[in-house]
Amino acid sequence: MKIVEPKYEILTDISEGGIKELQQIERVARVCYKSEDKITPDGESAKKLVGFLVKQGHEAMLEHSQLSVLFTCDRAIANELVRHRIASFAQESTRYCNYSTEKFGGELSFIRPYYIPCEPTEKAIKAASSSEDFIKLETDYQIHNAWYWSCDDAEKRYKILITNGLRPEQARCVLPLCLKTEIVVTANYREWRNIFKLRTPAAAHPQMRELMCPLLHELQKKIPVVFDDIQTLWPADDQTRKGSMVK
Ligand SMILES: Cc1cc2nc3c(=O)[nH]c(=O)nc-3n(C[C@H](O)[C@H](O)[C@H](O)COP(=O)(O)OP(=O)(O)OC[C@H]3O[C@@H](n4cnc5c(N)ncnc54)[C@H](O)[C@@H]3O)c2cc1C
Repeated sequence: MKIVEPKYEILTDISEGGIKELQQIERVARVCYKSEDKITPDGESAKKLVGFLVKQGHEAMLEHSQLSVLFTCDRAIANELVRHRIASFAQESTRYCNYSTEKFGGELSFIRPYYIPCEPTEKAIKAASSSEDFIKLETDYQIHNAWYWSCDDAEKRYKILITNGLRPEQARCVLPLCLKTEIVVTANYREWRNIFKLRTPAAAHPQMRELMCPLLHELQKKIPVVFDDIQTLWPADDQTRKGSMVK
């Protein structure tokens, strides 16, 4: 079995400074006000207008945009993503992917949740001195082993079912929620705003925040104005304690 890290990749090309994206919205929105004469080529008029639209709640104009993001996450987080009905999706299929084949290295891939510790290292074992240290090591072993061996077991049983003639779409019934998946989410900026508002606060699942918070921060850097009013305390309140993924 392979253990992979969750990550995201923005698939849509974003122009230098995000100006083209704002100008697209500006071009459309100025039809409403018949103020096309106010368009300036440097993008300053676009920034101003889009800021105004967001502030006024005239978010329908933000629908004239599109952004695709590829997430590598577990099936549980993907299940939460697909609840966003206005978005469009393309997800790795457990019906068509046969993980026992060479194409997948004959292995299944799992996302190790941040709260499942790695197997304690030699160094950690040697460094343990107090009874608290040893209790912590023992607890880490217990949690790690429970998770690791249940994935390992699921992989073995999946392969047994395939070997005995079941199709991937049938054998998948023994696979856990932490199975790695890839899912492309395409949505307009209005819907991304809704997604960020729901999926970045501390009430959202920490594994969701682990992806959405750095994505929000990156988009705030790349596209002016559109997402600026969505505040998150992350990474200060990052339950995963993993730190920033922002490059
Ligand atoms: C912290 C948290 C906990 C959650 N817990 C649960 C849970 O326990 N059980 C559960 O089932 N789900 C749960 N969810 C998922 C939640 O119920 C929504 O399905 C999900 O957040 C998508 O939200 P949405 O409807 O705003 O988004 P979208 O589906 O993306 O819709 C975007 C917006 O479009 C509008 N819209 C879309 N469809 C309609 C419609 N039919 N009628 C009117 N307006 C519409 C709404 O304004 C909506 O906000 C949880 C979500 C969060 C963030």
